[in-house]
Amino acid sequence: MQLQQADFPFYTFTNLNKYGVRHFVTSCGPNADVNLRAANGAECRRRLAQSVGFDIDQLVTGEQTHSLNIAVVTEKDAGRGSLDIDSRIPCTDALITNRPGIPLMVLTADCVPVLLFDVATRSAAAIHAGWRGTANGIVSLTVEKMSRKFGTKPQDVVAAIGPCIGACCFEVGDDVAGHFSRWPETVIRRNGWPKPHIDLVTANRLQLEQSGVLPQNIEAADECTKCGPLQFFSHRRNQTLGRIGTGIVIDK
Ligand SMILES: [Zn+2]
Repeated sequence: MQLQQADFPFYTFTNLNKYGVRHFVTSCGPNADVNLRAANGAECRRRLAQSVGFDIDQLVTGEQTHSLNIAVVTEKDAGRGSLDIDSRIPCTDALITNRPGIPLMVLTADCVPVLLFDVATRSAAAIHAGWRGTANGIVSLTVEKMSRKFGTKPQDVVAAIGPCIGACCFEVGDDVAGHFSRWPETVIRRNGWPKPHIDLVTANRLQLEQSGVLPQNIEAADECTKCGPLQFFSHRRNQTLGRIGTGIVIDK
């Protein structure tokens, strides 16, 4: 990821920058007071919008309940959950659109944020993949839905996996591990640890590849929110209410 200096600093991905796609990942490093949660984050969101260059009144967010619901966002949704909680799209963990000028954002603090951009149909997705969403295949389902709704071909998709809790820190109990029992050892890791660790980045990368996204089109931040040096919000590290905002907008 590359840090973009602005009033509200944010990170971007090299592969999405190559296609000139406006997108962002926020950090708590350069501005520790930053909190994008809708309850008190309105001012932060306005500054973010100005720095990235999108219209805050068009921003769309979902309620995020670890569901597999994927919303197809159109003009009628523009602005839902931009600055408040009540108007968010309910019970939705992935947002997809082919409409220019409507930014999509997910909020995370250890869960995996994933952005997709289809360079051919110019459609995009913002996905919240916690361990449940990851185990249940929300990223694959989103690629499928983009294919159905927009005619997306997986080989045209550029994917970015944002900062999340790394395998280093994501120790899980048997209940969570059970959901990953059919995954390879690169996802459910047991090397030398008393309890299994889950590699959510690898799990989502595998899902993308199995969906037909080309390995060279997948970029991962590979930045652990809990122990990494870049200081992203981490629920496990400090029980924070702060959230990383990860978003994308198709330019008009
Ligand atoms: Zn770690």
